[in-house]
Amino acid sequence: MSSNSGIRIPSRLPLLLTHEGVLLPGSTMRISVDTARNMQLVKTRLLKGTSLKSTIIGVIPNTRDPELDTEDLPSLHSIGTAGLAVQVVGSNWPKPHYTLLITGLCRFRVSQLLKEVPFPLAEVEQLDKLEQYTSPRNTSEAATPEGELGELSQRFYQAAVQLVGMLDMSVPVVAKLRRLLDSLPKETLPDVLASMIHTSNKEKLQVLDAVSLEERFKKTLPLLTRQIEGLKLLQKTRKSRPDDDKRVRAVGKVGKFPGRPFSLDEDGDDDEDGDDNTVLERKVKGANMPEAALRVCLKELKRLKKMPQSMPEYALTRNYLDLMVELPWSKSTTDCLDIHSARVLLDNDHYAMEKLKRRVLEYLAVRQLKSTLKGPILCFVGPPGVGKTSVGRSIARTLGREFHRIALGGVCDQSDIRGHRRTYVGSMPGRIINGLKAVGVNNPVFLLDEVDKLGKSLQGDPAAALLEVLDPEQNHSFTDHYLNVAFDLSQVLFIATANTTATIPPALLDRMEVLQVQGYTQEEKVEIAHRHLIPHQLEQHGLTPHQLQIPQDTTLDIISKYTREAGVRSLERKIGAICRAVAVKVAEGHKVTKSEAAPPESGPQGAEQGGVHASEGEQRRRGEEAQRVSSDMASPPEMPIVIDHIALKDILGPHIFEMEVSERLTLPGVAIGLAWTPLGGEIMFVEASRMEGEGQLTLTGQLGDVMKESAHLAISWLRSNAKTYQLTNLVGGLDPLEGTDIHLHFPAGAVTKDGPSAGVTMVTVLASLFSGRLVRSDVAMTGEITLRGLVLPVGGIKDKVLAAHRAGLKRVIIPKRNEKDLEEIPANVRLELDFVGASNLDEVLNAAFDGGFPGISNPVTLPQITSKL
Ligand code: ADP
Repeated sequence: MSSNSGIRIPSRLPLLLTHEGVLLPGSTMRISVDTARNMQLVKTRLLKGTSLKSTIIGVIPNTRDPELDTEDLPSLHSIGTAGLAVQVVGSNWPKPHYTLLITGLCRFRVSQLLKEVPFPLAEVEQLDKLEQYTSPRNTSEAATPEGELGELSQRFYQAAVQLVGMLDMSVPVVAKLRRLLDSLPKETLPDVLASMIHTSNKEKLQVLDAVSLEERFKKTLPLLTRQIEGLKLLQKTRKSRPDDDKRVRAVGKVGKFPGRPFSLDEDGDDDEDGDDNTVLERKVKGANMPEAALRVCLKELKRLKKMPQSMPEYALTRNYLDLMVELPWSKSTTDCLDIHSARVLLDNDHYAMEKLKRRVLEYLAVRQLKSTLKGPILCFVGPPGVGKTSVGRSIARTLGREFHRIALGGVCDQSDIRGHRRTYVGSMPGRIINGLKAVGVNNPVFLLDEVDKLGKSLQGDPAAALLEVLDPEQNHSFTDHYLNVAFDLSQVLFIATANTTATIPPALLDRMEVLQVQGYTQEEKVEIAHRHLIPHQLEQHGLTPHQLQIPQDTTLDIISKYTREAGVRSLERKIGAICRAVAVKVAEGHKVTKSEAAPPESGPQGAEQGGVHASEGEQRRRGEEAQRVSSDMASPPEMPIVIDHIALKDILGPHIFEMEVSERLTLPGVAIGLAWTPLGGEIMFVEASRMEGEGQLTLTGQLGDVMKESAHLAISWLRSNAKTYQLTNLVGGLDPLEGTDIHLHFPAGAVTKDGPSAGVTMVTVLASLFSGRLVRSDVAMTGEITLRGLVLPVGGIKDKVLAAHRAGLKRVIIPKRNEKDLEEIPANVRLELDFVGASNLDEVLNAAFDGGFPGISNPVTLPQITSKL
């Protein structure tokens, strides 16, 4: 029955698959949306659409088991109902979802599925006529169907009138329904009534599938009759039990779910609505909230009771009240702090990081003495993967408090922190209130992760909102826009983390006590891996040390050849990858060991018989050998799989970081600088080249202003000392810039760099370029320079030195005044490196070149350069 007049729905509809019942035309239904596909549909079509009212989507009942509906699109039911989304409410609790209020318009048939991702979109055929609704309808104009259909529709109408007549007319909805019966076109009645009376989803699905009107009447009439009989029965019992009157009234109301308003089920179900509100009221009164909040709640509750449930506002108010009663207004955990056990716990959880642990203990000790302490907020600053989050978690554990992490990276809207006002569609509370709800107590440890990555936008400055949260003078009455009443945050213990202090908004930084967390040395990483990461990963993958062993030198290989980081995050991931590979082998079990069993003479290496480590050729060879011996080795003893170098390469692939250093220093004009980044220290190959020109300097590699100035300083100093150092230009003269253009490049070209600490490196590179001599390939350097050739101290020495050590370099040139910073460097690293503290550029150059850098007084080692390089 395709329509050819009236309103037409779009010929392409996005499809919403729902398990929550069957939407029929003419009825309104609340649908909770949480699958990825449906969420995507809501986000792209409904929330971003130009106008919510004009947004029509196709609702298809999903008859399959919800559990099966994760990835593949289930086979679609071919008939659905086009619906108008009249309301979208979003919430993050207990998981992100939207609640849609949808009014059914008409049936459609899916003629072709156009695409499945990110949500299904289909070409559809409209099945019902959709007329402009004019109320009240002029009945005389209505084309009353003839013949059997006419008779059917008449019978149906009468039954409907009878049903409504049995209900309590003093309930407004019932009165309205009575009026509607006369004004609605007769052919819409089956759908409207089927969705109102008590029917199962299966029955509703049959009504939906009844495309022909005649069939639809036939399907619905028995349902209607059943309802009437049920009501008759109920009225009979009511006569014998007059006190049940109230309940029958309730039966007449349009219930919570428009699909089941006249439910005649069990007793309790009938007055679910009334009960619901009473339960809610009880919860509100029992939530122990402060006076002001209670007053707001009671007022909202009063409004709620007067509202019909189909009203969009009902859901909003209901969600609000549900949140209010769940918030931990006065629920808290008791601190169980014992400094001694705190120390043990921190030590057990974390290797090294002594300074940080000491400071954390002090902080906790002071709290123990003075629990009302309104001290500064601790902020752990350091590269990723050095254990900042994990220390935060330990603090919560030592205090016996709940822990919650709030990721602030990329947050640029202050309502992320402070919530949206309730007037917005999809409004919800901010992350602080959500966090409190998640932990269920008002004194958790909140870890504000990545405060240095807060953004800013037109929607207000989230840092300002955060300031209010952290300020002890204000945070006892923090007002989330959604709640609109104050919540006391003064019991929450806030800890922040950041990669760098440079981008933390100053006002925020002012509130915090910064604790630097440095990167780890290779030895520390090996220890951390063996004490924490490996056991943890084994457990996560369901393995035991009897099944997988990673020797120390393998760990060292992972650290130096597969990762280059200050923290241990990629290291942990690589160990995870090994565990996964081994888990597969272990799961394959005896099959593997049988076919790949190594001959017994392979000694302790026999442990490798799991075979994960073997390269292909090696595997084949062993397979052949194994075949020879397998007959008498049907079930070899259970041995752990030991990851050796070969196994490592098999699992993780070829080395990612080879020692490239010496290869890159084979030409004059290259030197290794040391840079500090929020991700830790790094070595940096600074390159220079020269060509004929007019003395121009080109700088590439996205340099900041300070760095550009250092480059000019370096050149000026070299020009003024060219004679002393016998630096010649392309035409043989002593001014390096005469007839010569210079190009200085700092990799990686895409990363912005700034700061003065590359000064000494630039001088060295240029000295190498103009003297034609190679810089020692095992030297790295850092230091600011002045025009007079002095070397000034710089920051980040520990991270830089560790980076040089990681890269396998032997000598590090640092400013003399930075020598005191070397104390922070672990003794073993200090032993393996040769430090040169330089106070001027002469000393730098002397240490950077083999045999020193020649002055006039040292003509023997004068560079043998040809004037044209
Ligand atoms: P961050 O917050 O600094 O980015 P995480 O706390 O997430 O780093 O740490 C990453 C992983 O490394 C975690 O599994 C953590 O337990 C582990 N880890 C980091 N440092 C240490 C350490 N010193 N001792 C034990 N484990 C550590």
